[in-house]
Amino acid sequence: MKIYKKILGIAAFGLMPFASHAQLGAAKETFTRADSLRGNLTPLRTCYDINYYHLDVKFDIDNKFISGSNLFKFTATQDFTKLQFDLFSNLKVERVVYKGKDLPFTREFNAVFVTFPQTIKNGSKDEFTVFYSGNPTIAKRAPWDGGVEYNVDSLGHKWVSTACQGMGASVWWPNKDHQADEVDSALISISVPNGLKDVSNGRLREVTKLKDGYTKFDWFVGSPINNYDIEANIGDYAHYSETYQGEAGKLTLDFWPLSYNLAKAKKHWGDNVKPMLKAFEHWFGPYPFYKDGYKLVETHHLGMEHQSGVAYGNKYQNGYLGRDLSGTGWGLKWDFIVVHESGHEWFGNNITSKDLGDMWIHESFTNYSESLFVEDRFGKQAGLEYTHGNRMGIVNDRPILGPYNVNKEGSGDMYPKGGVMLNTIRTIINDDEKWRSILRGLNKTFYHQTVTYDDVVGYINKESGKDLSPVFDQYLKHTVLPILEFTTMKGQLMCRWISDVRKFNMPVKVRVKGGEYQFITPTPRFTPVNIQGANKDNIEVDLFNYYIGVLND
Ligand SMILES: [Zn+2]
Repeated sequence: MKIYKKILGIAAFGLMPFASHAQLGAAKETFTRADSLRGNLTPLRTCYDINYYHLDVKFDIDNKFISGSNLFKFTATQDFTKLQFDLFSNLKVERVVYKGKDLPFTREFNAVFVTFPQTIKNGSKDEFTVFYSGNPTIAKRAPWDGGVEYNVDSLGHKWVSTACQGMGASVWWPNKDHQADEVDSALISISVPNGLKDVSNGRLREVTKLKDGYTKFDWFVGSPINNYDIEANIGDYAHYSETYQGEAGKLTLDFWPLSYNLAKAKKHWGDNVKPMLKAFEHWFGPYPFYKDGYKLVETHHLGMEHQSGVAYGNKYQNGYLGRDLSGTGWGLKWDFIVVHESGHEWFGNNITSKDLGDMWIHESFTNYSESLFVEDRFGKQAGLEYTHGNRMGIVNDRPILGPYNVNKEGSGDMYPKGGVMLNTIRTIINDDEKWRSILRGLNKTFYHQTVTYDDVVGYINKESGKDLSPVFDQYLKHTVLPILEFTTMKGQLMCRWISDVRKFNMPVKVRVKGGEYQFITPTPRFTPVNIQGANKDNIEVDLFNYYIGVLND
C-alpha cells in the first residue's frame, strides 16, 4: 500500500540554485539497538531458512485478546544452537516447544532468542512451535499506523482486520520478521466467534465448528509470501466467485464484501477487476499466484496488498476515496485501490525487496502500474498525462532509498517520483516493446523471489543494453533533481548536467522549437549541442517526460 500518507499541495519545481545539490545532504539519522534487531540480518537469523508456518490463532474480539501458536518449519543453513525470531514485547511468549520439550528463551525488545539442546546441523530440516497470547497493538490509523483494527459495520457486526506493513507481522504473531526470507507456504487457522467469518490469504480449506462458541477457518497459501501480507479479516462477509481466462489458464476470482454490500460489490468490482488483470498481465506477465487465486476482501481501512487476498476499503467508488491524485481526470475513471493494491501482486508480492530501505521496488513500480493501466484502457497519451499529473504529489524532501538494515523506509516520493522516474527510463529506452519485455522479464526472472537494488537496476541495464545506473542513483539516492544547463560559447550552444551523481550522463530529448525531438547525451562538462540551428532562444527540452530543472544562461 500505503499510498500518500499525506495529500500534498502542488510542489512546483522551479530552477534549483547550484548550491542546493551540495547542501541537501540528509541529516544523519540515528538508529537504536531495537532497530538493528528488527532490520539486520544477523547470523541468528540467516542460520535458518523458513519453509512453512502453521499459524493458529483465536480472536477474542470482546477483550481484544488473541492466543494461539505458530509452528516454524525450517532448514538450517549452517550449524547452530541459537536462533532469533520476532514477537512484539507486549505479547507474551508462553512456551517454545521443541520435540515435546520446552526450550529456554530470552527476550530483548521485540526479538526472542531460543537455545536448542544440541547443535542443529547445516542442511537439516527441523521445527519448533511458539505458543503466545496477549492484547496486540491496536491500529491507530491502519494501514499506515497498523496492528489489529477493531470496528463494527453499519449493521453493528464486529469487523476486525490486521494491517502491519512496515511495523511488521510480529505485531500480532511470532515469525522470522525480515523481508529477505519469505516462507514457502503457510496454513493460517483463524478462530472467530460463531456467526462471523474469517478471510485470510490463499484458499479456504476447511471450516470447523469448535466447542467453545468459536469457528475455525483454515486458509492455505501455496506460494512464498511476505509476513506482512498474512492477514486475518473477521466480519459478516458475503462471498461470490468468478473466473478469468488469463495468460496462465483459468484464474479463480473470489470476492468477500460485507454482506450488505454484495450488490454494490458485484457491479463495482465487476467494472474494475478484469480490466485490471488484462492490463497487468499484458505489461507484467501472468498473475503470479494462480495456485492461490485472486481475491478481494472488504476492510475498514483503505487498502493493503495482502497477497491473494487484497484488502479493499475504497467504498466502491472510483479514484482514491473519490479523488484523483493526478489532477488530470484520468484517475477518476477507475478504482484506485483495486488497481494499486493488485499491482503489488507483481511488484511487492511476486518481487519483494530484501530490505525495507528498497521499498521503492514495491511502490515506484506499483505507482507506475497505475499509468500502464490507464494506458491499456485509454491510450498511451492518457497514461503519460496521468504520470505527469502525479508530479504534484512530489515533495523532494529526502531520498527515496531508505537506510539499510534498520527496517526504515525512504521518502514517500517513492510513489509519484518513482513512477515519474520509471517513465523517464522508458523514454530513454525508447522502445515500448523492449520496455514491456523488461517489465515482464523482471517478473519472470525474479519470480517469487526477494531482490536488492542492484538486482533490479542490473537487470534493466543488461536487458536495455544501457547503463541507467546514474539515472536510478540520482532519482533514488538523492533529493534534488538533475539540472540541464545551456550556455553559448563562441556562438555554439553548449550544455551540461549538474547533479549529485558523478558522471551523470542521462540521455535527454530536445528539439529546435517546432521540430522533432532528438536525443542528446550531455555530461557534467559542457559539450556542444549538435542539433542544426539550435540556439539558446529556440532550444526546447521534453519536460513532459523528463522531471528535471533547466538553466538557460
Ligand atoms: Zn502501494
